[in-house]
Amino acid sequence: MSDVLARLKEIVGAKGFSDDPREIAPHVEEWRGSYKGHTPLLLKPVTTEEISRILAICNETATAIVPQGGNTGLVGGQIPFNAEILLSLTRMTRVRRTDRAGANMTVEAGVTLAGAQAAANDAEMYFPLSIASEGSATIGGNLSTNAGGVHVLRYGMARELVLGLEVVLADGRVLDMLRSLRKDNTGYNLKEIFLGAEGTLGVITAATLKLFPKPEEIVTAFAAVRSPAEAIALLTAMQKATGGLVSAFELLPKTGLQLVIEHIPGTRNPLNTPSDWYVLLEATSGANFGLAETVETALSDSGLISDASIASSEQQRADMWKLRESMSEAQKKEGASLKHDIAVPVASIPAFVEKATEAVLKAIPGARPVTFGHLGDGNLHFNFNAAKGSDGAAFLSRRADVARIVHDLVHDFGGSFSAEHGIGVMKREELVRYKSPTEIEVMRALKRTLDPKNILNPGKML
Ligand code: ZN
Repeated sequence: MSDVLARLKEIVGAKGFSDDPREIAPHVEEWRGSYKGHTPLLLKPVTTEEISRILAICNETATAIVPQGGNTGLVGGQIPFNAEILLSLTRMTRVRRTDRAGANMTVEAGVTLAGAQAAANDAEMYFPLSIASEGSATIGGNLSTNAGGVHVLRYGMARELVLGLEVVLADGRVLDMLRSLRKDNTGYNLKEIFLGAEGTLGVITAATLKLFPKPEEIVTAFAAVRSPAEAIALLTAMQKATGGLVSAFELLPKTGLQLVIEHIPGTRNPLNTPSDWYVLLEATSGANFGLAETVETALSDSGLISDASIASSEQQRADMWKLRESMSEAQKKEGASLKHDIAVPVASIPAFVEKATEAVLKAIPGARPVTFGHLGDGNLHFNFNAAKGSDGAAFLSRRADVARIVHDLVHDFGGSFSAEHGIGVMKREELVRYKSPTEIEVMRALKRTLDPKNILNPGKML
């Protein structure tokens, strides 16, 4: 093993590795503290060629390796649990090319999502992927986990924003699929299998990403609605009124808003009318043609809201988004919580929320539902906080059986037990429980073909 480590160190040079436990520590622990691993060696290559040589050695010597981006994942996929080599992509930060005519750009895997957004902006274009952790999450991680976020409704998940991909295979061969074509029907769409594969089939080193016209007019509104059903009706009305320009449509419950206002300094409810549910919606257009009036009129004509506020400054807009984006942090500050990242068909959301909330409250009387999320995608963060003053540890000890209750119902509704966070180690059992045996067989066959020695992120997903 020490011989293998020496060979790997030699590839990247003195600046490209660390075996100092203090430097390694933040890389082997998940940010919420839910997962902790260990590694004898952190590699920090800067080129695809270095990664190619690293994987060739790992494959030759059957040495397991875990790729990692910004370490913001929530399901343990980026943690080396069994002393695997840790491969950090965070020094691969070049923007290789921006192409305004073709509306795309090619960036390396270690560019942060915020960095990619800024690079698009520099080219007078727009890259729409947006998630709470975008300051440190990387493009490689976003693509490997098929990240979602708040703009999926309009622009799709991470995988839908990819035109081309560069991947290093387990044996070190570089699979160059960095094409920028919109039309390319030349056989299997190989890049697709690496998107959302959590680093189990290859290491994504660069991507050609779709760009869009930069939003010039941004209209952000916060509205009170009676129920999730009326929120869905409001979404349909707003899409019709704006011709499909709604770019975000987030559902917030009264319970969640109260937690945010209580725990996050500088936040307040922009509305005076109390309500059980709220919606944060945003519509954008690449040109100024009076979108604000359209949204305002459509909101008041909808007959579905009891109160609404439209942001009239960038500060007000940021304040509204802070309410939504602080939801997880507020839940954390309130104490023990059980979380489920699920999706059901949009039309089924009201029935699902009612049934699943009832089922969880039957299992844990007094638990406080904090259901929020990307209503337009059918993706809910179906979360619960422990009853005030109750035993947090006892609440958390129910994690597995509550997840079973929720995920079984999700399955009954034709939904997904993992909408945007992935499988990692957290949801491996669910994968086997809810996917068909044939799907699992095909996934395993792909894994065996592309990584016969099982060196790439072993034990994750499958
Ligand atoms: Zn989310």
